[in-house]
Amino acid sequence: MPSLIWLQGATDNGCTISFLNADQPDVPQILSKLDVEVVFHPTISPWSGPRALEAIAPYASGERPLDVLVVEGAVQNGPDGTGAFCLVGKRPLKELVVELAPHAGYTVALGTCACFGGIAAANPNPTDATGLQFHHEAMGGLLGPGYRSKAGLPVINVPGCPAHPDWLSKTLGSLLLGMGDLIELDQYNRPKMFYRSVSHWGCPRNEFFEYSCSAQSFGQNGCLYRYLGCQGPDTHADCNRRLWNRQSSKTRVGSPCLGCTEPLFPDAGAGHFFQTEKRLPVPKGAKPLFHVIGKGFDGMACPAWVKEVARD
Ligand code: SF4
Ligand code: SF4
Repeated sequence: MPSLIWLQGATDNGCTISFLNADQPDVPQILSKLDVEVVFHPTISPWSGPRALEAIAPYASGERPLDVLVVEGAVQNGPDGTGAFCLVGKRPLKELVVELAPHAGYTVALGTCACFGGIAAANPNPTDATGLQFHHEAMGGLLGPGYRSKAGLPVINVPGCPAHPDWLSKTLGSLLLGMGDLIELDQYNRPKMFYRSVSHWGCPRNEFFEYSCSAQSFGQNGCLYRYLGCQGPDTHADCNRRLWNRQSSKTRVGSPCLGCTEPLFPDAGAGHFFQTEKRLPVPKGAKPLFHVIGKGFDGMACPAWVKEVARD
């Protein structure tokens, strides 16, 4: 039976809560189908304290094989590099992760905090928090750029604040059913099957985006990009096609996409999550001049009814 250890660093437990809301399949189905033994999880394990440390110890020493290590939350290095801001028992979490990771068949960072530092590592990062193998956009983090799990893979990053339950369940499924080699990763080691497209794809406000018909205040139907800070065109995630609770997404309920799967979250949006910066917004990779001219023509071509509905 494959073994899994799930540790938490600097986290609000949000990624665990998201995962526990998995459906189609739900968590009991996932665990039984994958026939996986959860050696320890801080929320669902019945034990804690010394008993939990005893359960983990043989995997940290390599005495027992560890198939998957999942880390949720950033790893805190402070104060002064000791890691004492986050203790497991009496030891810094970072020591435990460094001990377990080389023995893990696969290591998965769950949530933007574990992947890139996320909210815990946001400026000014008072606890010296970092991700497992990235610090924001830079490779490194706790384990360093050269880290490879026993299966020869780097840390598999499953970002999101929180991560969608499917992103973890399908990643675990691929790994534990022997298809780990087939998982294609992008430049930030995110599985392309979830993070190749942007959350803009599938957003029902796309027609308004195309015609440059923008909502100017919350509650209107128009696109949230021009005035209300939407980061959908630059945020790699399939939220608007996979949907949350199988029925919704931020932009479907009128909130801009906050860019939470990206390595610079939340600093990249700090101060303007709900208001586009005072510049002409241009999606990354687009040619600014052509984009601006094209959007001008799109606006001129916009049918009257689209304009009308955008402001409803
Ligand atoms: S990524 Fe977001 S939801 Fe997940 S642990 Fe960090 S703050 Fe919580
Ligand atoms: S609201 Fe955001 S995600 Fe939706 S179409 Fe506009 S820019 Fe794209």
